[in-house]
Amino acid sequence: MKSINAINNIPLHYARLVNHPYGTRGEQRQFSIDSNFLEVLKNAFDEVFSSCPLGIPEVVTTAGIFVNKPGQHGHGTAFDLDAIFWTNETLVTKNFIHQKELYLGVESFLRKHFGIVLNYNYPNHQDHWHVDTSVPVDYNEASKSETLYLQMVLKHIYGKPVIIDGLSGPQTRGHTKDVFDRLNINTPITTKANYLKFLDITGKVAFKLSEENITPLQLLENLETVIDQLPAANKHDVREALNSFVDNDETSTWLNGITHHHDLDSVIDHVLAS
Ligand SMILES: [Zn+2]
Repeated sequence: MKSINAINNIPLHYARLVNHPYGTRGEQRQFSIDSNFLEVLKNAFDEVFSSCPLGIPEVVTTAGIFVNKPGQHGHGTAFDLDAIFWTNETLVTKNFIHQKELYLGVESFLRKHFGIVLNYNYPNHQDHWHVDTSVPVDYNEASKSETLYLQMVLKHIYGKPVIIDGLSGPQTRGHTKDVFDRLNINTPITTKANYLKFLDITGKVAFKLSEENITPLQLLENLETVIDQLPAANKHDVREALNSFVDNDETSTWLNGITHHHDLDSVIDHVLAS
């Protein structure tokens, strides 16, 4: 075990306190960590932040590394990542819906280093990523957390209309095959080399997309995602209100005049050529 308060000179902070609540930069702390796990974390941070267009952050907040409880945290071999703070930009994991591209860019590179990554859509992990090395890096169709990630990037990065439920089936497999063909990656995804290549290219595509301007159409999509998560009692009224807004003659004229999204194909071509 080692005691650290930074990784690769990036200060590690704790922000789950009354005076330093979740989502703030918090305060720097010492954390106990297994020495071998620290090396994996250093390599992962190195790759994430050298690939990220925002560069090296000023602060990373963590909910903990060694925690006196059963499981990987009890050995100092798991890390909970709450948020990342750059000079002018912040990624708070709970804000996933509004920062999908940046979030999925970071996660794609984390997955190259950690066999276990639990994200926003995994139960009880809306407000942090849990990463550990208790299983090897690969893609297993039966893995809920890996399939959630796959479905999230198919939908939010590659624009495929897939249902995000963590269960792999014909729909997920079909869209995966289409995307792999488009990216010139051999199938199946269950072969480690193919999966690593997918993670690498997807991380780069997601980061590139995160640099583009957000259009009102994307903001509308975010709103729809938020409405989908509302309790059933409120969902109907809010959806009706949104629908009448969108269907209004003036708003629909305005929305129809907005060109959709980023040009995904040119972003993919750019990444494949680099
Ligand atoms: Zn954890």
